[in-house]
Amino acid sequence: MICVSIGRTRQKMMVAEHLALKQQGAELIELRLDWLQGTPDLAMLLNDRPTATVLTIRRLQDRGKWRGTEAERQNLLRAAIVAGVEYIDLEDDIAGKIPRYGKTKRIVSHHNFDETPDNLEEIHQRMAGLDHDIVKIVTMANSMSDCVRMLKLVSEAKVPTVGFCMGEFGTITRILCGKYGAPFTYASFSSEREMAPGQISFQQMKKLYRYDQINSKTKVFAVVGDPIGHSLSPLIHNSSFIHEKQDAVYVALRIPAKGLRRAINDLQLLEIKGYSVTIPHKEEAVKCANYSDDAVKQCGAANTLYQDDRNAWFATNTDFEAALNSIRSGLSENGLDGSDILNGKRVLLLGAGGVARGITYGLIKSGAIVTITNRTKTKAEELAKHFGCQFVSWENRGADFYDILVNCTPVGMYPNMDETPFPSHWLRDNMLVFDTIYKPESTLLIKQGKERGCKTVSGLEMFVLQAAAQYQCFTNQTAPVEFMREVVRTAISPAKTVDKLL
Ligand code: NAP
Repeated sequence: MICVSIGRTRQKMMVAEHLALKQQGAELIELRLDWLQGTPDLAMLLNDRPTATVLTIRRLQDRGKWRGTEAERQNLLRAAIVAGVEYIDLEDDIAGKIPRYGKTKRIVSHHNFDETPDNLEEIHQRMAGLDHDIVKIVTMANSMSDCVRMLKLVSEAKVPTVGFCMGEFGTITRILCGKYGAPFTYASFSSEREMAPGQISFQQMKKLYRYDQINSKTKVFAVVGDPIGHSLSPLIHNSSFIHEKQDAVYVALRIPAKGLRRAINDLQLLEIKGYSVTIPHKEEAVKCANYSDDAVKQCGAANTLYQDDRNAWFATNTDFEAALNSIRSGLSENGLDGSDILNGKRVLLLGAGGVARGITYGLIKSGAIVTITNRTKTKAEELAKHFGCQFVSWENRGADFYDILVNCTPVGMYPNMDETPFPSHWLRDNMLVFDTIYKPESTLLIKQGKERGCKTVSGLEMFVLQAAAQYQCFTNQTAPVEFMREVVRTAISPAKTVDKLL
């Protein structure tokens, strides 16, 4: 079950949102009375309540907004119990002062906004000794190991325990706590109305992550990167799982640079079956695998890690084949034969990071003549040397003529949409311009390419094709490519929000 928290300053709005959430299918609502301005009117809030309700009044010391006295707060909690509210939230230090009465269930809660303390089990054990129906323990996650400790606690708890972590690191625990036995999780009214750090909206929790359908058998997949907050991978993969009726869920994990190996090790207990890997982990991902394919060995970067039948980790790179096929489809529009169309083409590649490595490998294998340029000269030189291709300095990147221009830098990506890595006067009309950026779909480079009469291909196609190949690795099934294309296009369209898509 998902408990949706409502915090409004006006009671009328709280009542209206409670009703709206019932209409959206919510079964349990938390009313945060500390958010209200003025004295709460329990009759107005509870008499005709449309769903089961948790009543909570958080103090300032617990990052709540209650400004009355502690005596007034506790009197209000007692009055709510007398009024027969289904659940009352009592912080562990005051639970003993508020007696049990009637049918109201007691959620004894503990919050730590700074860390997930080492003595988590001890705190839980102490709380389990208080007069509770449910123990709620919520801490700040500062690493994946904090998340794993929390979910382990929930799974081993002998009493009903709602346990999850706050913050960007903790999102996975909010989504998976039910899988490990928590009676419910918490969600916000909407994406804009987060009540606690890292909270997910009710619609996303219900429709994208399908919280209520996650069970002990549900397979878990994840994207790892930093930053990761705006990744479209959870949307494209979860939507595809839903579309194809797969019992699987896909979450986003923020893992700081150089922390991938440790995080994967920490996450072992959660039996995550596969990872999409993004900036800055593509090179470290190779070292995390037990074995990898030739492409990964050659280019030293992987964007996919998944477990084979013997639970060994396999690394592959779906980026570059997706990029190459995107370029091929752009060139085919010229009426050329698509089979070996890259052979002999002169390509200028901007950037020398993980994506550039993979695409360079693929282009050379396809017979293209590649020249690399990069802001940091030494990295371009190293990459060119590794693959035995040409190098040109960043300053002189416009001096020569090329058939294909490939942007593998983030220059022009949202929100810096008025930037381009290749000034328009260097573009030639018979060039194909491929920008790996997909947000926005039409970057300044793509727009200027079109204005100069170039063929253009955006990164959207590459993003969809690499995700489709990952889907196949993860599920051993063919991906719904056309559906995935539609999902991504809708998600990045300025007119539509992700919530509306679900
Ligand atoms: P990366 O390893 O961090 O490499 C980034 C590259 O961009 C480096 O060569 C870097 O140069 C260069 N760069 C960064 N900022 C720059 C600036 N302001 N001016 C000039 N050069 C700059 O990243 P990656 O994994 O290769 O990803 C690169 C891009 O590929 C991403 O930004 C993303 O847009 C795109 N991408 C697309 C897809 C897709 O499916 N369509 C998938 C993955 C990535 P230095 O060496 O000087 O730092």
